[in-house]
Amino acid sequence: MPKSREYMERTEQSVLHTYNRFPVVLENGEGVYLEDVDHKKYLDFGAGIAVFALGYGNQAYNDALKAQIDKIIHTSNLYYNVPLMEAAEKLLQHSGMSRVFFTNSGTEAVEGAIKAARKYAYNKDNGRTDHEIIAMNHSFHGRSMGALSVTGNPHYQEAFKPLMGGVKFAEFNNLDSVKEQISDRTCAIIMETVQGEGGIYPADPEFIKGVKAICEEKDILLILDEIQCGMGRTGSYFAWQQYGVEPDIMTCAKALGCGVPVGAFVLNEKTAASSLVPGDHGTTYGGNPLACAAVSKVFDLFEQEKIIDHVKAITPYLEKRLDELMAKYDFLTARRGMGLMQGLAVTGRPVGAIVKKALENGLIVISAGTDVIRFVPPLIITEENVDEMIEKLEASF
Ligand SMILES: *Cc1c(COP(=O)(O)O)cnc(C)c1O
Repeated sequence: MPKSREYMERTEQSVLHTYNRFPVVLENGEGVYLEDVDHKKYLDFGAGIAVFALGYGNQAYNDALKAQIDKIIHTSNLYYNVPLMEAAEKLLQHSGMSRVFFTNSGTEAVEGAIKAARKYAYNKDNGRTDHEIIAMNHSFHGRSMGALSVTGNPHYQEAFKPLMGGVKFAEFNNLDSVKEQISDRTCAIIMETVQGEGGIYPADPEFIKGVKAICEEKDILLILDEIQCGMGRTGSYFAWQQYGVEPDIMTCAKALGCGVPVGAFVLNEKTAASSLVPGDHGTTYGGNPLACAAVSKVFDLFEQEKIIDHVKAITPYLEKRLDELMAKYDFLTARRGMGLMQGLAVTGRPVGAIVKKALENGLIVISAGTDVIRFVPPLIITEENVDEMIEKLEASF
């Protein structure tokens, strides 16, 4: 019996069955390849859901974490620590924003962003508490009650009602639909700059600029969720930087720590000056020295390894090869994406079967929405990796 079968069966006897996991037990990683406990190799175009930007086994990254472990892992937020200072400075330097709060996950970053927006509105309106937030259909912001409330997917929400009140939904990339939902109670508009889980939909430039204009006119806060599309994935540190539209609040996670669980919500000056104050928000682990040493090293390595330049250079090749596939197969009906966040829409065939077959063929890709094959590889992929991916994918159709 392969080792993986035994481990899978034992795991299923103790963990809560909330995932339909693929039948693979992963053990090692090297660059853009993963290896399972039976020594089968996989080319990884999923990166642990857009997390492992630097690839697996980056020695400088691993060494930085080991060094921090030998110093101190945790202090709590009752005290200062040096990695926190460094990680915060680097995140602000690369975003041009003003203040950051580190969390343990993307979901928690969204929770913090919602609280900051509500507090800003509370202060502005002398203690009124009937504010509304506009979110987008087909969005994904997380599974806790606040983040779930702004996640535009009724299927995820249904069994967990009543959710947080005051949320209205609009159509992504439809400015009129957003305008219809605006009222004098609207305090924030939340959206992903590039929708990820919903099926890889980049914001149209006119749409996001139009939303920003409404926000400025009415002093509504724009919250951009960059948890999946941020940290270099689209060819700039943050996707909004390519639209010339600055958020009031941004959320980050996934590749921010490249595998160490860490997220952040980041505020501009205006929002930071009049929102959360001591006593309003907190976390025991968030921003601890180990997590922040990871964030700090990730920014250093992005600079040293010129990751953003590499994403810009390799993207046209990935797009070209995906477009060639589209031209060849009738059931591939659209390619959407920005940088190394790409999706192929599949019509008339189950995406799940393709993803499963790819895994058997030693290729990790994941789905998005109901009908999209998602490509979110480590940001260090080469043209050879792209060629190998295309070959393995075609063999899986
Ligand atoms: C993954 C994701 C989240 C949730 O992040 P977690 O770290 O899983 O809590 C929120 N928003 C977007 C856009 C995501 O892709």
